[in-house]
Amino acid sequence: MNRRKFIGSAGLASLATGAVLTVPSVVHAKAKYRWKMVTAWPKNFPGLGTNANLLAKTITAMSGGRISVKVYGAKELVPAFEVFDAVAGGTAEMGHAGAYYWKGKTEAAQFFSAIPFGLTAQEMNAWLYYGGGMELWRELYRPFGLIPATTGNSGVQMAGWFNREIKSADDLKGLKMRIPGLGGEVLRRAGGTPVNMPGGELFTSLQSGALDATEWVGPYNDLAFGFYKVAKYYYYPGWHEPGSTMEAIINAKAFDALPGDLQEIVLTACKAANMDMLSEYTARNNQALDVLVNKHKVKVLPLPDEVLKKLRGISDAVVAELAAKDPMSKKIHASVMQFRDQVMPWSKLSEQAFLRARML
Ligand code: CA
Repeated sequence: MNRRKFIGSAGLASLATGAVLTVPSVVHAKAKYRWKMVTAWPKNFPGLGTNANLLAKTITAMSGGRISVKVYGAKELVPAFEVFDAVAGGTAEMGHAGAYYWKGKTEAAQFFSAIPFGLTAQEMNAWLYYGGGMELWRELYRPFGLIPATTGNSGVQMAGWFNREIKSADDLKGLKMRIPGLGGEVLRRAGGTPVNMPGGELFTSLQSGALDATEWVGPYNDLAFGFYKVAKYYYYPGWHEPGSTMEAIINAKAFDALPGDLQEIVLTACKAANMDMLSEYTARNNQALDVLVNKHKVKVLPLPDEVLKKLRGISDAVVAELAAKDPMSKKIHASVMQFRDQVMPWSKLSEQAFLRARML
């Protein structure tokens, strides 16, 4: 359509009704936006890559095609660990990743994915949406020209696959385990050797003995990698990742250029995708656990209380050290810890008490 002619006729119509202010929204309603979404996952990777696809599809459908979002798997446009820079620099309008990948940019990013012995998925959403977390996250990313949003949660992960039994804290000594981030630092202080390597190398490393143990996600993703063939024991709970949040990051300039209704659509789609991932993991994990236990006869064991208590003590120290790195880390740490202290008594007499009652 001839744009000038269109604006002209719309303007005249508006003048006739006295509603001059409708002109910009009429122009906006016709504008089309083509966005790229870069991701930190292999294309279509179960749970994570598929969530990026869902988010893109939802935005396109909700906007009636006014924004079309094209998803790029890791390395298709940029490598996994360059998603943050690509979106900040405008190579892509959107990214899909986990905030803890960006600790090299800003240490405090780690608070927005998971911290050891931190918040469950339900508590994390509560802190972000109703406890001031989202505001702090936006403040943290503002200097980078980025707007963060939640787009998924794995729920409580598993402690991982082990080739030796963990009967006491001493059994962690000398343990070579793939466990990245803050959890890895906690293991190191407990006497272990944390290793970071991509998911695709874990199977052969366990098989060859290069690794004694690995964490990954939970039954759904772990079954797909076949770890049950090369590790004897499957331990729980995932103390290091109790409710890992995935993030969508949006280029602030691209977002500001959208009319208000499309901005709302983008953010609401992220919130919907957040709910979707947790539902998918909850449903798929329980099916996969059944297969692991009943078909593959995997030994599923709890980490002993003594071990968990030791890890918990070290975790508090490691997280407190992160808080001391810069003023934003201090502010976010204070907020999340205050929230955790407040929510724990409620979780104890709601979720925890009910889950216990259901098993009596
Ligand atoms: Ca993990």
